[in-house]
Amino acid sequence: MTADQRPAAPLVQDMLTLPRRAEDGGRVNLIGLTRPQLRAALIEAGTPEGQAKMREAQVWQWLYHWGVRDFAAMSNLSKDYRALLARHFDIRLPEVVSRQLSADGTRKYLLRIAGGHEVEAVYIPEESRGTLCISSQVGCTLTCSFCHTGTQKLVRNLTAGEIVGQVMVARDDLGEWPVPGAPKNETRLISNVVLMGMGEPLYNFDNVRDAMRVVMDGEGLSLSRRRITLSTSGVVPEIARTAEEIGCLLAVSFHATTDAVRDRLVPINKRWNIDTLLGALRDYPRLSNSERITFEYVMLKGINDSDEDARRLVRLIRGIPAKINLIPFNEWPGAPYERSDWARIEAFADIIFKAGYASPIRTPRGEDIMAACGQLKSATERARKSRAEIAAETGGAR
Ligand code: SAH
Ligand code: SF4
Repeated sequence: MTADQRPAAPLVQDMLTLPRRAEDGGRVNLIGLTRPQLRAALIEAGTPEGQAKMREAQVWQWLYHWGVRDFAAMSNLSKDYRALLARHFDIRLPEVVSRQLSADGTRKYLLRIAGGHEVEAVYIPEESRGTLCISSQVGCTLTCSFCHTGTQKLVRNLTAGEIVGQVMVARDDLGEWPVPGAPKNETRLISNVVLMGMGEPLYNFDNVRDAMRVVMDGEGLSLSRRRITLSTSGVVPEIARTAEEIGCLLAVSFHATTDAVRDRLVPINKRWNIDTLLGALRDYPRLSNSERITFEYVMLKGINDSDEDARRLVRLIRGIPAKINLIPFNEWPGAPYERSDWARIEAFADIIFKAGYASPIRTPRGEDIMAACGQLKSATERARKSRAEIAAETGGAR
């Protein structure tokens, strides 16, 4: 069964669980509600049950196909119904605080969300596609020692609306909403979405899943599940759920070929080690009906970049349909590592390639604006984890 054929989640009746804010007069934000949640919300606001399915379809199309932000513009709804919507609901997106443009065309957005917190999203244009890298949390509870986000405290999980909202504000900025009457634009500026920004998506599973259901819906933003890649540091219990409930492509932050080194680089390895992680990954392609898993591997000079590492990596992943993405380490102020030399990265890539795996080296993008992988960290959330906190989270040894 593919993700598209799965039965819809049960109708959510409990409106109290929907995001409301006192400063908005208690109005519920429609952005990020799944279809069943949207329908339930419309019924609770007074839509007759017999009309709810049609209203859900209409409102959904205005929000996600046309990108409309004002109920008054929903021209196929009666004036009274538009007024009812405006009384009960909002259409609220993260606020763009700043947008930085790199010399290579990469755009980094600093976005403000409820509570005054900030997250980043990055748009990376390439010749044949455009990828939007989005965040799932403000900060991260994990403490991968090479990652800038890992030095920032977890402030909170993003809501589904804040995750979907990142895609919508990037579409606004790129001018990518359809224009009524104009010919359909076949080339999509945002053709791919990667959950590789701030945070560990599988520690915010429900919101990430709901957000991706909105993003994948064919009547709206309409990105296929094969154009969405979720990157995890290895939260093993949630990997099968990702296959079953989202069905997108999976990337895993592998980064080391022995438990001793991985414990240091990706401390979640102390909880679920390489062997346990590989076990979960072996089942993923079948469960998700997807193709290859991407193994992300950050190249750190003298730490994980030897020929022996490359050979061990190939042995470890044998039997898993895989692509290995080599990421030259992106430096940040105070980082405890250096990027491997280019010749070393190429020698490593060569061993993997000869073993039969695609081994693209990820070109660092947007380095001049600190937009590359692992460099995201919001300037306002300055609180750095204390050594004691890091030790507590990683079980002591670092
Ligand atoms: N938390 C998730 C997704 C966000 S990080 C995860 O860890 O997978 C996205 C990717 O960037 C991960 O593979 C991560 O390990 C990598 N990364 C983090 N810091 C980096 C850095 N400084 N240089 C290069 N890659 C980095
Ligand atoms: Fe968190 Fe991923 Fe950074 Fe690790 S690499 S600290 S999981 S964002």
